[in-house]
Amino acid sequence: MRSRGVLMDEAAALAGLWAQATSVAVLTGAGISTDSGISDFRGPNGLWTRNPGAQAMFDISVYMRDAEVRRQAWANRRANPAWTAQPNRGHLALAALQQSDRVQTLMTQNIDGLHQRAGSRDVLELHGTIWEVVCMACGLRWPTPEVLAREEDDPPCTACGGILKTATVSFGQALDQAVLEAAVRGTKRAELLVTVGTSLQVNPVAGLAGLADRLVIVNAEETPYDAEAELVVRGSISDVLAAVADVLG
Ligand code: NAD
Repeated sequence: MRSRGVLMDEAAALAGLWAQATSVAVLTGAGISTDSGISDFRGPNGLWTRNPGAQAMFDISVYMRDAEVRRQAWANRRANPAWTAQPNRGHLALAALQQSDRVQTLMTQNIDGLHQRAGSRDVLELHGTIWEVVCMACGLRWPTPEVLAREEDDPPCTACGGILKTATVSFGQALDQAVLEAAVRGTKRAELLVTVGTSLQVNPVAGLAGLADRLVIVNAEETPYDAEAELVVRGSISDVLAAVADVLG
């Protein structure tokens, strides 16, 4: 992390680029929600950094064939801090920037719904949402709190008996094509793409960074796209975005 003075200089540089751009797309990842108490996967305190084995639970073929993995996944869902988490200064700054027409496309890999709770609209949820459950057999959907309220350790679909899962994208599952296409269009249309709190390691979403005309990366750690970025801001997302929103009003 940079010293606070250097970080604020970088935030000012980002605000300058942001102000000049005719249109801006923003892509967020798990790092924007760590200040709301939700762990990321690959950061220093990430779920997978602490427990690399946990990654298997996010593989769709393992989830579909192994009832024990599903029971563990449901226990984890129940305990997910996202149910009570509040948006932080990073989410609120992006909502304010969108409100003042400084963000034309807001894309997220997050599944926690915190951008919407901060007031953002038209959020492209590239990896789905934990707020809905979908039947893997018949496609019926429910709000997740309703399914959790059943208090079953591996709740089946009440219509067809199929396996239920949150409406999130696991490894081995395709992204929603329409959402991905909208993200590609939004990125190509923008003069500037700002990526925030993502390690940019998983395609196809990470590939959006390669489509950008001009790229800025805000992230505490290195990413594979740092060399392509016009500016890399290596510091607290909440501090940086709040400073940008202050400057741009
Ligand atoms: P990631 O875990 O791979 O990377 C997060 C990055 O954010 C890390 O490089 C970390 O150093 C940085 N970071 C964390 N907190 C920060 C802070 N306060 N300031 C600056 N940088 C910070 O995340 P990813 O690239 O989004 O990929 C993980 C996948 O996991 C995504 O697909 C996402 O759907 C999912 N996920 C979502 C949530 C959520 O919805 N909140 C949480 C965990 C994982």
